[in-house]
Amino acid sequence: MTVRAKKHLGQHFLKDEQIASDIANTLTEKGYDTVLEIGPGMGVMTKYLLEKKYTTHVIEIDTESVEYLQNTYLNLTPRIISADFLKINITDYFEDQFAIVGNFPYNISSQIVFKTLEHRDRIPEFSGMFQKEVAQRIAEKKGSKTYGILSVLAQAFYDVEYLFTVPPTVFNPPPKVDSGVIRMLRKEDYSLPVDEKLFFRVVKTAFGQRRKMLRSSLKALNLSDSLRETELFTKRPEQLSVEEFINLTSLIEQDAH
Ligand code: SAH
Repeated sequence: MTVRAKKHLGQHFLKDEQIASDIANTLTEKGYDTVLEIGPGMGVMTKYLLEKKYTTHVIEIDTESVEYLQNTYLNLTPRIISADFLKINITDYFEDQFAIVGNFPYNISSQIVFKTLEHRDRIPEFSGMFQKEVAQRIAEKKGSKTYGILSVLAQAFYDVEYLFTVPPTVFNPPPKVDSGVIRMLRKEDYSLPVDEKLFFRVVKTAFGQRRKMLRSSLKALNLSDSLRETELFTKRPEQLSVEEFINLTSLIEQDAH
């Protein structure tokens, strides 16, 4: 018995054992004893995770896949969470540091990264496979068209590395696009020297109108004229590095009205 791929759940099962093992091996195994695999499907990668010294948990939304896993990996059964990763309260399941890995469902992959960023205090490492364009976007530096909210927010807290590209032919069914594998390692000091909520807001607001100069896209933040007339505010968001976004947030924090 195997699981029939369901499109609405983003199911593209890996059929290449080597690649499944390569993705499992992207984890450094440093700084945690627990790993959570998101979307294990039929467990092609899970079996490699189970060989490691850390404890593997999985979360899977598809009950047919869950049943398959229960029948196939008997020892894993108590650590199968049959639920939607985007809906669970992470702190209900994990008290300590844990890493995330997966061949992620591409329809929700950005949301998976955002949820990881929200819980960065528990997640020292995150690696896995995305649609190539999304993987590149997360790792992208300033000045590129694909540089955006995901790039800045992820790189503010994590060192992001694009590892390798995977062709559609190794999946069943094959997706229409190439895939890319990345690893994010949380920075040693991942606290920002500014109000982190404001930082998120500045980045999201600026990229909300990415073609505009900051002096007009950031109007909603109610800034003083003298601040909006500085040179920095004639830039567009894709021209700012992560560091510059942090400096910008600091200037906004100190802005006197
Ligand atoms: N890792 C497997 C399957 C990848 S396909 C392999 O490489 O073969 C993506 C998997 O994510 C599917 O099994 C799908 O059911 C699961 N999935 C989709 N949305 C999910 C969600 N919100 N939470 C948890 N799992 C999800």
